Amino acid sequence: MKKGLTKNIFYGFFFGILLGITLSIVKLPNGFENTILDFLNFGGDVFLKTIKMLVVPIVFFSIVNGVANLNNINSLGRIGFKSIFLYLTTTFLAITISLILANFFNPGKGVNFNVDTKSIDISDPPSFLEIILNIIPSNPFQSLVNGEMLQVIFFSILLGSAISLLKKNSSLKKNFNDLNDVVMKILSIVMVFAPIGIFCLISKTFATQGLSSILELFKYFILVIVALITHLLIVYLPIIKFYGNINILKFFSGLKDALIFSFSTSSSSATIPITLSCLKKNLDVKDNVASFTVPLGATINMDGTAIMQGIATIFISNLYGIDLILSDYVSIILTATLASVGTAGVPGVGIIMLGMVLGQVGLPLEGIAIVMGVDRFLDMLRTSLNISGDAMVSIVVNKSEN
Ligand code: ASP
Repeated sequence: MKKGLTKNIFYGFFFGILLGITLSIVKLPNGFENTILDFLNFGGDVFLKTIKMLVVPIVFFSIVNGVANLNNINSLGRIGFKSIFLYLTTTFLAITISLILANFFNPGKGVNFNVDTKSIDISDPPSFLEIILNIIPSNPFQSLVNGEMLQVIFFSILLGSAISLLKKNSSLKKNFNDLNDVVMKILSIVMVFAPIGIFCLISKTFATQGLSSILELFKYFILVIVALITHLLIVYLPIIKFYGNINILKFFSGLKDALIFSFSTSSSSATIPITLSCLKKNLDVKDNVASFTVPLGATINMDGTAIMQGIATIFISNLYGIDLILSDYVSIILTATLASVGTAGVPGVGIIMLGMVLGQVGLPLEGIAIVMGVDRFLDMLRTSLNISGDAMVSIVVNKSEN
């Protein structure tokens, strides 16, 4: 995300809160107030619809492109299997940690958020086995059309692998690469209007909800940071120290450049070259391992993103007063794991992909606007965690290959 855009999003958020609170305090003639609210509603809906429009193309092209570009998946079968297994397991742990913390601290609970829950469509919860079975599409084109995200991800991984396994595919690979760039460009065009969209959504929210939601938003923000640090402390560092046999200080100083770069760019993908060089030069990871694990990690391994999505989902469900049941939690774990796989390693995509998790458990997409205003800094932090995860897995796979 460009610097100016980040600033404008913040302004949209700030002035949205200001207008919202003013509207909730000042008594305007009823007809006039309703006209303003309708107008804000319209602006917010336009923004949400454009975001929704982009989720399927982003997931599809980013995964196909990412997987197709992995060199030699078959000759790297063992390394590939180990890294995919580790990437998915740590993401699963990340989202579990985030759900435990979110349930303990319950951000957004007790806020009297006025929503017409009748207008919120809560689908019948599927059983766990149904969720697993549902991942396999009976018709992948239908899944794309209907936006069945888990099915789209499943098919995209297969398609990407097949492209990578076929030898005579350089033009196809290039076409997918170009299409992926095109989708990312569309996202950046849409994001130019994000400040206005956020302004509309936030002012409408605060006009109808009032001050207590700001405090809860702050609680959400702090909780995401706590969960990111917890994941680093209880999952990554012990593995690096005890399995990788690497001193923690050496790990951080060896990875320093990549951490600073990812923090300032909020992009795992852009950081790939730096992560590679840090791992090879400073942490003795072999080239054949790192050149596979790092690009793969930057494509599919987003523990920090999954953590944000888990906490945001609970926060939003609390705000809207919608109780989640056990199968919803299973759904959140599965979807957030896959949503983080489908998140492109560029700034701000994780928050768009939150829509996929919310949709899966029947929560309103409007929730995205509430957390988006504080997402910029969280994106910087979670991208650094994402990079640390890629490095940790590279170290583990490298050790196991020796
Ligand atoms: N910015 C993150 C990354 O590149 C993805 C996200 O969560 O938005 O790793």
